[in-house]
Formats: sequence, structure tokens, C-alpha cells
Amino acid sequence: MISKFNLPSKIVFCKKCVMSNQRPSSIPEFFHTKERKNAKYLNINKQDGICDACKHYETRDDINWEDREKKLIKLLNKHRKNNGEYDCLVPGSGGKDSAYQAHILKHKYKMNPLVLTWPPILYTDYGLKNYDNWINVGGFDALVVRPNGKTMKKLTQLSIINLLHPFQTFILGQKNIAPKIASKFGIKLVFYGENEAEGGNPIAENNNSLRKKSYFAVKNYKNIYLAGTKVTELLEKYKFKYQDLKIFFPINDNEINKTKIEIHYLGYYLKWTSQEAFYYAAKNTGFKPRPFRSQGTYSKYHSVDDKIDDFHFYTTFIKFGIGRATYDASQEIKNKHLTREEGKNLVKKFDGEFPKKYFSEVMNYLDIKEDYFFELCDKFRSPHIWKKKGDIWKLRHTVNKDGVDD
Ligand SMILES: [Zn+2]
Repeated sequence: MISKFNLPSKIVFCKKCVMSNQRPSSIPEFFHTKERKNAKYLNINKQDGICDACKHYETRDDINWEDREKKLIKLLNKHRKNNGEYDCLVPGSGGKDSAYQAHILKHKYKMNPLVLTWPPILYTDYGLKNYDNWINVGGFDALVVRPNGKTMKKLTQLSIINLLHPFQTFILGQKNIAPKIASKFGIKLVFYGENEAEGGNPIAENNNSLRKKSYFAVKNYKNIYLAGTKVTELLEKYKFKYQDLKIFFPINDNEINKTKIEIHYLGYYLKWTSQEAFYYAAKNTGFKPRPFRSQGTYSKYHSVDDKIDDFHFYTTFIKFGIGRATYDASQEIKNKHLTREEGKNLVKKFDGEFPKKYFSEVMNYLDIKEDYFFELCDKFRSPHIWKKKGDIWKLRHTVNKDGVDD
């Protein structure tokens, strides 16, 4: 069967979680092209049928976490300033994980973090309240960097049209802004939570506390892509202005070499699960879940701050056959909070549910006609994942083995 975007043409599900081999491995977002020519996908081992993400997670039990904490303290002491200046930077929008990280760094490890926010494209009321609580209840100095709203809108529109990826502009900003701000403030230590490779990149990429430089620095802006389009083309054909795009760019290689900023994953040093982060943030920074579950899944506290988030997971369902419930359940199976059977039932019940709650509002904001959005969705369905029966698109294969070709 022909597959689009270089996706593996045979669909296989992990025997341990509910994820399939269609899950893209993470690549630097600014190298995301329309054809996804160099894209790699989650490896599921031929011998035992278990995915690399599950295998990596199992190794967490063998890690000497006391030893890792000692390493963390050593790292913190190296960067600790004790003179009122910020000694580390924690990027985040007020979700439970960033709230946990900033709080534990400040109150347990006595650092002086600056928290940095590239705000969601369309904050939910709950997200904004959680952000305020993070700063007010948690007690932090905070910096918010908002990109030019017109450029943000145009680029987001274009990433939907070119990549069916409504979340790209947020990711670009969230990942690229931190090193640049750290550089400006003379901060040499930046913390992200979890290694983005953990979800499905080759295992070797996970065994390091440092974020790979290729994820956040480039030598030449001319080679990068935003919204699946080369920057040079955005400037010439789409008439974007260089000064409006620059905020989305990664830091320059020379600058990072000069400033020697280190970007670490706190998740390498401290063992926490997203449920624990939730309880911690609820207790210490006034974090509250959404009063209702997110459409497309059963959970109430993962990524609830952006109205566009629900769309993001709907588009992964279209492009890869992987909806939000599959992501959430796979994570919770790994944490042993769900059995695989329970996960499968949740996937059956919620995966791919259409995010209608914010649909009109999001389309309005983006100036995209609702019908056009559905046309785009159909364009991005790969024939090896989807089959049209009458008017209805059906998955060929599911983890529950009830797809049309199962
Ligand atoms: Zn797995």
C-alpha cells in the first residue's frame, strides 16, 4: 500500500503500549518539510514487538536516581549566582510540568530561576488562570515574549495548509526563544522537562541530559523552514519581512558557542511522572485541571492551555492515525497507571473525536473556512491508513483490531 510522508507502509502496534509505528520521531521543527523526506518513525522491535519508547521507559527503573540528583546539585552549584541575578531559565506556559520544574528549582534547590513564556496561540480560560497562579502563587519573576500577532496568524495558517500542523508556530517559539533570551540575560543554564526524543526516537538519543544543539541552533537561516517553506521563499514569494520572522528562528551557532549556554532536561536528573507533576503543581502553584475532559481523550490536565492543542491532536489522528487518547494512554501504560486493556478501551472510546468545542473560534482566528479545513484533512490522509466507505473515512488498522482491513 502506498504511504504518504515517508510513513512506514505496514502499520504495527506496540505490544506493550497502544502506540503504532506511524508516530513520527521528533526532528528540529525548523527542518520539517512538506514531503517529510528525512522523517523517521517510532521503531517497534521485530523480535519482541515492543517500541523503543517503552524500552527506554523500562530503563528508568534501573537508574540510580540518587546519583542523578547529586549530578544535578553539582550542575546547579556550577551555575548558582547568589547575587540576585537569575541563574537559570525555565521556559513554560504554566502547565503542570513547567510549574513543577520552576518551583522545585527555586524552593528545593534554592536557585533563582526566571520563567519564560511564549504564550499559547489562543489561551483557554483555564490555561491563563494556571499561568497566573504559576507566577502569583508559585512566586516567580516572569518574562512573556509575544510574537507579532499578524505574523503568528499568517504562519500558523500556512503551517496548516502546508503541513496540517496547527501547533508548529507555538512549538517553534517555545523551543527557539529560550536560548536567545538566556543569551540576552547572561543566563547559562536552561531547563526543559523531558527529552523530546523520549517519546519515540532511537534509545541512544535519550541517555543524555543535554539537549542536542541541532534542535535549537543553526549556522545559516537560509537553510531553515517555517510552515514547511524555506525562509528565503517566505521572504520572496510570501512577502514576509525578515524582522517579523526572526523571532521564530533558532539561535545562531556562533552565538551559542560564544555564550556557552547549556540546555538540560530536568527529567534526566529527577524522576517524575506527569501525574506526580500534576499533584505537585496543584499543591504548590494552584494548578487546576480543566473541569471537563479534553475532546479526543479522557484526561483533564495534559496540555490544557491552548485552544489549538485539541486541533493539533486531531491532525495527528488524520496524518498518522494516532489521536490524543493514544498518546495519553501510551504514557500512562508506561507509568503503570493503566493496563494495556484499559488503554485500548480508552482509545476506542475517544481517539479521533472531533474537537468541536473550539472549532469555529479557531477557524475564525485563522481565517480558514471550515469546509476548507476538512478538504485539507482529506488531502493529508495517507491511503495506507485510511479507507473511504461511502462518505465516511475509516481506519484500516487499529490497536483494537477493528479497522476495515483488520
Ligand atoms: Zn510501546
